[in-house]
Amino acid sequence: MDSSFFDVAVVGAGPAGSSAAAILSRKGFKVALFDRRAKIGVPVQCGELLPTPSEIRDIFPRSKYIPKLVDVRSEFVTNRTSQIMLISPDGHGVEFDFKTNIIDRAKYDSYLVEQACNASCELHLSSLVTGRSSANRLSVKTQSGSKEMQSTIVVGADGPNSLISKTIDNNYADIDRDLSLSLNYVMRGVDCDEEKVLMFFGRNIAPGGYFWIIPKGDSLANVGFGLRRSLSAPHVSLTSHMKHFITKNAIAAPMLRNAKIQSRVGALIPVAGSVDRSYSDSVVLVGDAAGHVMPSNGGGIPQALGDGYIAGHVISSHFEKGTELSFYEKIWRNEFGRQLDVALSVLRIADSVMVSDPLTNVCMRLAGRQFLEPLIRCRLPIPVEFISKTFVRAFNALMN
Ligand SMILES: Cc1cc2nc3c(=O)[nH]c(=O)nc-3n(C[C@H](O)[C@H](O)[C@H](O)COP(=O)(O)OP(=O)(O)OC[C@H]3O[C@@H](n4cnc5c(N)ncnc54)[C@H](O)[C@@H]3O)c2cc1C
Repeated sequence: MDSSFFDVAVVGAGPAGSSAAAILSRKGFKVALFDRRAKIGVPVQCGELLPTPSEIRDIFPRSKYIPKLVDVRSEFVTNRTSQIMLISPDGHGVEFDFKTNIIDRAKYDSYLVEQACNASCELHLSSLVTGRSSANRLSVKTQSGSKEMQSTIVVGADGPNSLISKTIDNNYADIDRDLSLSLNYVMRGVDCDEEKVLMFFGRNIAPGGYFWIIPKGDSLANVGFGLRRSLSAPHVSLTSHMKHFITKNAIAAPMLRNAKIQSRVGALIPVAGSVDRSYSDSVVLVGDAAGHVMPSNGGGIPQALGDGYIAGHVISSHFEKGTELSFYEKIWRNEFGRQLDVALSVLRIADSVMVSDPLTNVCMRLAGRQFLEPLIRCRLPIPVEFISKTFVRAFNALMN
């Protein structure tokens, strides 16, 4: 058999791609997994927060698969947190119970890839996929030159701004609004409550996003933020936002006073909800490549694991029984589609409220725990949309 012909080529070895690759390889299909990185999971572009299975059951009540998939082994867990605090621009905190596992993403991503390789998947590192033809011929750039690979099915697991997604005609309507720019520092010597995740909001703190302090345990923390250019001043750099927060934020600065930056990384987070086409007749998109990140909070690991699992099984059944690839979309929509749509509505509401810090302060105080907690859990208390729109209009009329 031609050594460059595969049943399935998976582009991207993050949690979504390696989960799909592991299932298909175990079923005996010939699978190749490509990643442009030289080392799996490095650099880590993540806050590493994974809600516990019981939280996921609460967030995605119809999901059959995701609660099991997020049940990570303790060897990958560096810390467990039990509360989230949302902090308004003027420092008012709203706190509620929310249990998470903070995971070591580099270690966990490597483990998932290992699962695929143990089942005979062919791993190609330092391999950048630069093109896909309509007949699923992939152009791959490696350190030793370029090569071509052919496969029956391509799984696009190549993260935000996915090349494979573009080859099936998905495009962002507005990049400055739909892709969040983010910067994360791993800091050592952070003086914070290691059981509490902090989320800071405000136009001057992180326009169109939020700042996070996620304790990794052992005085380490992920300190980062996402912002969107559609709502930020055009020329302010991400590093100056970070510096301002670390040194000037009344709540964060004392916690970070003696902390040292251990590593830093920038990345994109897709926040426009699902792409229009999550599959074609020979392509399936999974994880960030499909836009399956919760737009209101940037969380995407659970959906990436879910997509990889579902895609693996649907593609396998497509080969064995002729199951249509459209079945993939049917299942992921049932698992978390509603919550993804709600999270996008929450983001649009937040976009209208958070244009001004005074308005954000008032709204967060008025909303309190009873309204903010459901929003973080991707539930929209029905009157919220109506109330917030009316309130924003009234507030703006008062201020003008
Ligand atoms: C700063 C930041 C913080 C985050 N924090 C959290 C969090 O705390 N909790 C959470 O649930 N989610 C978080 N997310 C989102 C989460 O990281 C993603 O949703 C998740 O990694 C998606 O997994 P994936 O497999 O779809 O894609 P990725 O993990 O992005 O993997 C995609 C892979 O594709 C490879 N690739 C891309 N293009 C090509 C190409 N052309 N050829 C070959 N390889 C390619 C990349 O190298 C990468 O390894 C965060 C994201 C960011 C950026």
